Amino acid sequence: MDSHRETVTLIGAGLAGSLLAIFLARRGFRVEVYEKRPDIRREPAVDGQAGRSINLAMSARGLHALEQVGLQNEVLDMAIPMVGRLIHPVEGDRVLQPYGQREDEVIYSVSRGELNRFLLSAAELQDGVRLHFNARCTGLEFRTGVLYVRDDATNHVHSLRPDRIIGVDGSASAIRTAMMNVGRFDLSQQYLTHGYKELTIPAGPDGAYRMERNALHIWPRGMYMLIALPNQDGSFTCTLFFPHEGEYSFASLLDPRQILDFFEIQFPDATALMPDLTALYRDNPTGSLVTLKCFPWHYRDRALLLGDAAHAIVPFFGQGMNCAFEDCTILDECIEAHWPDWGSVFESFGRRRKEDADAIADMALANYVEMRDLVSDPGFQLRQKVGFLLEQKYPDRFIPRYSMVSFHRFPYSEALYRGEIQEGILRELCASISSADRVDWNAADRLVRERLDVRMTTG
Ligand SMILES: Cc1cc2nc3c(=O)[nH]c(=O)nc-3n(C[C@H](O)[C@H](O)[C@H](O)COP(=O)(O)OP(=O)(O)OC[C@H]3O[C@@H](n4cnc5c(N)ncnc54)[C@H](O)[C@@H]3O)c2cc1C
Repeated sequence: MDSHRETVTLIGAGLAGSLLAIFLARRGFRVEVYEKRPDIRREPAVDGQAGRSINLAMSARGLHALEQVGLQNEVLDMAIPMVGRLIHPVEGDRVLQPYGQREDEVIYSVSRGELNRFLLSAAELQDGVRLHFNARCTGLEFRTGVLYVRDDATNHVHSLRPDRIIGVDGSASAIRTAMMNVGRFDLSQQYLTHGYKELTIPAGPDGAYRMERNALHIWPRGMYMLIALPNQDGSFTCTLFFPHEGEYSFASLLDPRQILDFFEIQFPDATALMPDLTALYRDNPTGSLVTLKCFPWHYRDRALLLGDAAHAIVPFFGQGMNCAFEDCTILDECIEAHWPDWGSVFESFGRRRKEDADAIADMALANYVEMRDLVSDPGFQLRQKVGFLLEQKYPDRFIPRYSMVSFHRFPYSEALYRGEIQEGILRELCASISSADRVDWNAADRLVRERLDVRMTTG
């Protein structure tokens, strides 16, 4: 007799789908996972998105979810700690801005492809999980309950009638499209005027790192920026965030000589480390960046959206995957509280999570300005230093916003709310000083007690 509770069908075996399969299997469900791509463990050419090697910043929320299914240590073994932002000005000295102030307040660079492969294998080891590759969901009819899955190898379309479907199929979700067709479904998409392109700084001789290994490198240039995250083989994956259109843009920068001249002026030290710059720039696709908000995330007790399918955000807070992994933690809690009433499981998940997903979407957009512009602003650097001092003095009331998001698990909405109050306090305290040791501590005491009277209790 089948000992499984019942079957849950997942569409998508990306980062969230493969982790969610593990969570569900550990709760005793049979899990059928349909993924449109071939098995990336056997097809290295389609590693990551669009054949590129991408690395992601992983932090507390993602790590916590992995810890819950016993995989945190193995993932940490494949990751590189990054202690801060290493700012590369056009001229002058590089500056390391620590992300936090405790030794464990670091974020981790991890290869997206490697992580996905690891999670797929871990999912497959679970009793009751079956992964189907080349299996593309082409539609879902809520009226009849029929889910269409096309085998991309044979073009054969299968009709299935699963009871429970979770769309973890990313920002272009087919399940979300099906929900839209049901009606009364809110959806907003906001594309940035900037896109991105991946470039590479190869390893030096014997796999040596040609820049500081344990940092996230940033070349902030006001209207655009270049960043680089370390890989375990000594290379760095760089991402150029750049306008789609305009004087300096993907549309205008096309000629190899022009590209090289631009990079040599704007990013001279990085350019010297990128022998294949112009070929990579020409060959690698330009990606778009979108913030996508929608609601409701579920249809009755039948279908739910989770991860990027429910809330795609821009990458400037390094939280898309972390947020998707935290979704898995929260859904697991909702199952604990409400199963077998799937309608309540799905409804409570959306209710608990929507405000937080909107908050991190907004913070991620705001962080683009911070990364490409403010990090090289002395006023911003001063406020960051004073913020750390306030955290030391009032650890249960004042935690810098970046730390609340990346090193704690306070709800994102609380990080947004308290972060705005804290920013106001910092601006007042720093308005007439130029050094962190000139802070007026009487004023600080008063402002913190008046405006942050409620202590932080969770996270
Ligand atoms: C440039 C960039 C940098 C980023 N950096 C970070 C970072 O530093 N830190 C961070 O936390 N996040 C980062 N992110 C965000 C992160 O990549 C996403 O939030 C995360 O991948 C979401 O996981 P997901 O499983 O929901 O979606 P995805 O990873 O997109 O997975 C969706 C899966 O569904 C499959 N699929 C899609 N449609 C169908 C279909 N019709 N049928 C079957 N299968 C389907 C896809 O093939 C894919 O495997 C970054 C994103 C970008 C673009």
